[in-house]
Parts: sequence; structure tokens; C-alpha cells
Amino acid sequence: VFPGSTDAAGRPATLGVLGGGQLGRMLVHAAQRLGYRTAVLEPDPQSPAGLVSHHHIQTSYDDPTGLAQLADLCQAITTEFENVPAAVLHTLAQARPVAPAAAAVAIAQDRIEEKAHFAACAAVSGVTCAPYAVLETEAQLQAVQNERPDLLPGILKTARLGYDGKGQIRVKTAEELAAAWAELGSVACVLEKMLPLTAECSVLVARGWDGQVVSFAPQRNMHVAGILAVTHAYEGALPPALAEQARAAAVAIAGHIGYVGVLCVEFFVVADGSEHGGLVVNEMAPRPHNSGHYTIDACDASQFDLQVRTMAGLPLLPPRQHSPAIMLNLLGDVWLDTQDQQQEPDWTAVLALPGTHLHLYGKQQARAGRKMGHLTITGPTVDGVRTVARQAAALLG
Ligand code: ADP
Ligand code: MG
Repeated sequence: VFPGSTDAAGRPATLGVLGGGQLGRMLVHAAQRLGYRTAVLEPDPQSPAGLVSHHHIQTSYDDPTGLAQLADLCQAITTEFENVPAAVLHTLAQARPVAPAAAAVAIAQDRIEEKAHFAACAAVSGVTCAPYAVLETEAQLQAVQNERPDLLPGILKTARLGYDGKGQIRVKTAEELAAAWAELGSVACVLEKMLPLTAECSVLVARGWDGQVVSFAPQRNMHVAGILAVTHAYEGALPPALAEQARAAAVAIAGHIGYVGVLCVEFFVVADGSEHGGLVVNEMAPRPHNSGHYTIDACDASQFDLQVRTMAGLPLLPPRQHSPAIMLNLLGDVWLDTQDQQQEPDWTAVLALPGTHLHLYGKQQARAGRKMGHLTITGPTVDGVRTVARQAAALLG
């Protein structure tokens, strides 16, 4: 699909996305810069992506009429959130090229399948996930309680629909495990051994229809209360050998399932000398990722540019980072005062700092923990970027 072209039916080159959140919004911006029209399928009339797209189909993600309209408007379709029903992607793929494929999204939607996938690639990727057990039945609960003391203390995670630390409970004893499973509704879960993390990092990979693959250098991520808070993206943020290992592992994890699109693979760095010391793979997201937002301002092609290129079958070139970068997530908390009243922060002071790039997603309502925007800081030196990041963080409280 070339920008500016029309298809046999005379429709202008249009790229479609399921979901209207900030990832969709940044994809739409990248597509439009290349001259594409865009279509967003999202029920919320005020969604970040719907507000900036040429077309906004306001139906639920599984509405047959809405999906037919999307397929009719677009030459290629992607998704911006991983909990879109895999069956929907499968249906759309009958009509149009859809990337990522339903099968890849289905793996990322389910921690049990995701871990099985990581295990299947371990020989090639060279990394394993944290020791874990599947917990779907009362009998499995008892077996884990009796036979897997090695997994405690651990984290019980729902297999599906968990994000930003939601759907997780930390447990120390077999009794706490039983109580936690009940609290999570006795749904399918995995119990993961708690590992002594020294860092977390992620890798963004873009893989085309022809199997060509490019990747960004791994970035280091800091979470607060289960939500990404800061991403450090510069040489020295991670030990070079570890970064190279993570990058190669992510490429192997994408290649193993013939993935098409942008994939983010998240890793733990576990304390050296401990039993599982080194790199451990945690999870993957079948889309651009919050930890890759810095690529918009610090690289010659962003994760969204590469998503557009994979969708449209355009050439993929290895992206080059031209500046060290730190990204600060802007959560709704920044908008809320001590009385929980919403107030627009004073951006003037933040924007007076050198090398700050403010991205706001157009969300009207601030809530604690809600991703409202992000701030990327770039500059000629790592030290300079770190200094400005500290100043910006202080201004934002
Ligand atoms: P989510 O889908 O919510 O991002 P994760 O599995 O990434 O779930 O867990 C959220 C955070 O909890 C991780 O980023 C990490 O800080 C911590 N965490 C998760 N699993 C483990 C583990 N096995 N050992 C130590 N910390 C963990
Ligand atoms: Mg995570």
C-alpha cells in the first residue's frame, strides 16, 4: 500500500486500527505524516485516536457492521491493544492484510501460552522465563502447594486481562496462595517465583511480511506501583552484553512465530550470583509499547513509523537513535491536587527546560494511574538529559 495511491475500487490508501487509545493516536500521526488516510474503530466518541483520525467508526470491537466498514475503508489493519478478541483479527484477515496475526495476539493475551511460547524459543533465544506453575484447577492448586515450595515467595498472576500490575497478588505461603487465588476469582493463573530484580528492560522489534527484521536498542524501564514510570534510553543504561543478549532474544521470539508488525518483549535482569541470575524474559506486547515512546523524539524512525511500514509493506531500515533520551510517563496523578480536584499542570516551566518534548493524549478526565501523556527529554549528553529529567520530575511533583 503506497501513500497517495488508490486501490482498484478507487479508495485512497487508508490504514486502519482497532482501538482508540494513545498508541492508536501516535500510529495515526505517523501514518498521516506519510500521507495515508486513517480509520479507527473505537466505541468511545472522545478517544485519543478517534479524535485525530480521518474516519472514526464508533462501534464495539466485535460489531460485524463496524468491522465490515473498517475492512471496506482500509487496505491494511492493525490493533493497538492486545485484548481485542483474536477472532475479530481472524475475521478481518479474510478481507485485508492484518498485522499482527490473530495467532500472535492470542499468545500475548494469555500468560500460559506466552510462557509456553518463550519456552519453545528458549533454545534459540537463549533466555527462559521465571520458574512458574499453571494454576487452573483446585487439584493444581493443591499440587502447587504441596510440590512447588520453590515458587514461594511468588506472584500469582491471572493468565488473561492483566496489565499495569493489575490482576496480580504477591504471596509468601501456601495459605496466602489459596486465599489469593480465591480473591482473583479462581480463574486461570500462573504462579511465578519472585526473583531478585536489579533492573527491567524491553526491546522493540519490527518484522515485515517478508521476514525482514529490525530492532531498537534495549531500554531500561522503572515501574512504580506496577505502572511504567521512567524509561532510560541511552548507551550505558544497561550493560552492553546484556543489551545485546536481550535484543537477539527478542528477534528470536518474534521470528519463531513469523510475527509481522511491531513487538515489544519485556525482560527482567536478575541479580548476578542468584539462582536465575542474568536475563529472564517476562512478557510480550503485540504492538508498540509505552517504553518505546522515546523513539518518536530520539530516533530517525519511531516505533510507530515502523508499525506503519510493516503494515504497508514499505522498506524497513535499522532505526538510528540520534540522541540519548529519558521518558517520563505523565499519569493522571499529576493533574490531581490534594483534594482530587483536576487542574491542568503548568506546562510553561516544563517546556522552558531544554530538550523537552511534551506529548498529551487529549484525554479530558484525569484519574490516578491513567496515562494522560508523556514527556521525553533529549539532549547532546547523557548527563545533561539526566539533569533535565530530574528538573522536570521535580516540577511535576
Ligand atoms: P503487567 O502485565 O501488569 O505488566 P508484569 O508481569 O510485567 O505484569 O508484572 C508487573 C511488574 O511486577 C514487573 O514489571 C516487575 O516489576 C514485577 N514482577 C513481575 N513478576 C515478577 C517476578 N517474577 N519477580 C520479581 N518481580 C516481578
Ligand atoms: Mg509488564
